[in-house]
Amino acid sequence: MQIKSGATIVNLNPSMRPALIGCQKVFNKHDTNFVITCGLDGAHSAGSLHYYGFAIDVRTRDLGNKLQDCYQDLLNELPGFDVVLERNHIHIENEIAFKEQWCK
Ligand SMILES: [Zn+2]
Repeated sequence: MQIKSGATIVNLNPSMRPALIGCQKVFNKHDTNFVITCGLDGAHSAGSLHYYGFAIDVRTRDLGNKLQDCYQDLLNELPGFDVVLERNHIHIENEIAFKEQWCK
């Protein structure tokens, strides 16, 4: 796993750990580096879970024509997480854990 310079996963919620492990497994399968481009850093929408440590963005540009297969594998590998294919990255968040912790 690599973390893009400037990106931070300090204070990433432990509930995201399975997502990191699952991503590593899937990117290994596709022989591509797993790079987190954004964790708790960056500017996001007002309600974004990035600010609370329940979301990461993952680099997709190195996947080339493996993108769709990789995305499908992530969906299969990470049940319970929201895995969203964005224009230039894959956003992964754990809204269930966020709500359990903060919305009781
Ligand atoms: Zn994101």
